[in-house]
Amino acid sequence: MEIGSQVLAFFVLFTYCSFFEWFIHRHIMHVKRFPLHDAFRGHTLVHHQIYHGANFQVRPKGRAPSVVLRWYAFPGMLLFHLPFFALFQWLTGWQIFWGAALGCTLYFAGYEYTHYLMHVPRGHFVERFRWFQFLREHHRLHHKYMLRNLNVFIPLADVCYGTLVTAEGWRSKPAKRRRFLARRRSETRS
Ligand SMILES: [Zn+2]
Ligand SMILES: [Zn+2]
Repeated sequence: MEIGSQVLAFFVLFTYCSFFEWFIHRHIMHVKRFPLHDAFRGHTLVHHQIYHGANFQVRPKGRAPSVVLRWYAFPGMLLFHLPFFALFQWLTGWQIFWGAALGCTLYFAGYEYTHYLMHVPRGHFVERFRWFQFLREHHRLHHKYMLRNLNVFIPLADVCYGTLVTAEGWRSKPAKRRRFLARRRSETRS
């Protein structure tokens, strides 16, 4: 039972982190807010400026400044959540603390690792996967349309909040419209 509740807590927290990532990215990293304006500066004013447009990826062997988050981002995020896990475990008696902490840790590691490879291609194995290429395109569109695609790692919250855009979606619309108009013209003629 204990393992079961830890595993469940792992998946619940991993999923929750998609929403947490979305919220922090949308309301802290893209909005200047005291006392967290350093996150806004580092992300909107520095990261987005450096990796804008054709500069989305650094050239081979190029320097890659301001890709990873500040050193205190992960400890801060974990320290913020741990008391809630402890409180929940204490109140319910369900053993969830370590599973929940691991869910957060793995989400954060996945975020940093994939985001780094998106901007700094290293020829790692994961770069060959289609899901990684999808995420890289998803994040490239975020650098283009700043308040869209606010997830970096798992775009679940983007789907739920309607902030997901895909290259296919933007491109297919004019084509769809043309096909629709052509069909209607042919119908009125016959
Ligand atoms: Zn980025
Ligand atoms: Zn951003």
